[in-house]
Formats: sequence, structure tokens, C-alpha cells
Amino acid sequence: MKLVRFNQNRLGVVRDDTIIDVSDVLAQMPGQNWPLEPGDPLIRNLDALIPAIEDAAEGGKSVPIADVKIESPITSPSKILAAPVNYKKHLDEARADKELNQGTHVRTIDELGLFLKSSTSLAGPQEGVALKWTDRRTDHEVELAAIIGKGGRDISRENAMSHVAGYCIGLDISIRGTEDRSFRKSFDSFTVLGPWFITADELGDPHNLDFWLKINGETRQESNTNMLIWDIPKLIEYASSAYNLYPGDVLLTGTPEGVSPIAAGDVMTCWIENIGEMTVPVS
Ligand code: MN
Repeated sequence: MKLVRFNQNRLGVVRDDTIIDVSDVLAQMPGQNWPLEPGDPLIRNLDALIPAIEDAAEGGKSVPIADVKIESPITSPSKILAAPVNYKKHLDEARADKELNQGTHVRTIDELGLFLKSSTSLAGPQEGVALKWTDRRTDHEVELAAIIGKGGRDISRENAMSHVAGYCIGLDISIRGTEDRSFRKSFDSFTVLGPWFITADELGDPHNLDFWLKINGETRQESNTNMLIWDIPKLIEYASSAYNLYPGDVLLTGTPEGVSPIAAGDVMTCWIENIGEMTVPVS
């Protein structure tokens, strides 16, 4: 199933080129009192809501995807986890390009571990990326984003995939410079998720997906998730050895080679096999 958030918090099911509005189902979610539980309430309650969503999608009102404004399918994640240099050819290009390495030795993911991005950096595709420090190089990084369903701590590699609810296309927008990754990559709108959330059962094998990113129609990044250095079970095992994972936590799995600067007026198009395509303007 593909679930989309659109037109100011409507919930829809994607069928071909249309969206069926199933927002009425949201009323069945349990309310929350202070203090809020960490995480995304829809993802936390998804298993219980799926039958009602399927019912509502039968014969529900549909609208063409082209006529709606698509928002990030995940809201209020407790954390956005991200893998640094998790594709070999991206490591090679980072070591070769002074603008990327800032004159420092680029360490491997085995040395770096993971980093965290601000959860408020999240934006939907049509909100787009708003550049801020325009005197500095700011790059696109397209990545497969795995979304945690069932939370937990000390999750084993063997059990890891049962904790993934589904996937999105992710953009990890990055100012180049010497500051910490968590700072450079956490500006507002620097994490784009979309165009929808596809459940794990519908995606199939996440470790053999072609994907690409184009700027103004020109291909910049093109790879396959079979090139990941740390696969998704390893990322989850490692992350959950440090901190509890919660429903809706976003795991950005890393970007392949081909990162390059973006400028106001550019249009990014991102595609991942079995997920779909999203268009993201830069301002
Ligand atoms: Mn990245």
C-alpha cells in the first residue's frame, strides 16, 4: 500500500495516477495527552488502521495526483538517523574533491557511525528546499529512506527488517563545510521525504533498487541500493545498540556518487524503483 499526505494533512491511498481520500480513518487514532509519546502517531497505529484504510479506499473519492499538493508522509519523527558515506563510489569522490572533503581525510562509515538530523528539517516534495547560506555550496543527496514501524532497543540483525514499516524517497540536503554534519544538514527543509510511504510488504527487496536524481532533467546521481556498504539490518542493529527506536523514525541510508550543487530555480526529480518519482523545487 502507498500512503500519501496531501492538501494540508489529508490522508490518501495511491492507486495508479490517482489518490483516494481516506482521511476519515484518522478519527480512529487514539488521542494523546501530555506528555506525548515520541514518534509518528499514524505509523504507530498503522497495523490497527490498515483494514479500515483498505475499506475506505474501496469506492472512495479519488483525485488525480497531479491536482494535489503532496506533503511529507512522515510527521514528527523522534529522530532522523542518517548514514554518512555509505556508498563506496561516494567515498571515493569525497576523497578526491576538496570542496567535499574540506581538506580533511574523509573517514569511512565504520569510523564515523551514524549521525542525527533535526526532525524539524523535514519537508514535503512540493514545499521544496529553501537554500539559506547561499554563499556556500549546498548539495543534493538522494537516498532510500527506511521508516521504523515497531520500535525497540538492541534489535538484532536477524530481526531488524521486521522493525521496518516501509520506505520513502529521501533527500539529505547538505551545506559543504567544516561544521558538524548534524548542523550543516539540519537547516529547515533539508530533509525531504516523499512522494509517499510504501509499506514494506509492497516494496519487496530494498537492497536491489535502481534509483536516480536529475537536476532540470539532467541525470546527476544514478545507482542501485545493492551498492550500500552497511545494509539496512546493520544500520538498525547499530542504531538501536545506542538508542531506542520509535515508530516513524527515519533512517536515511546514504547517498551514492554524483552529489553536486543546487541553486535557486533548480528542479530536482528523484526516482526509486518500486516507490515512484517526486519533483522538488529549490528556492
Ligand atoms: Mn546523506
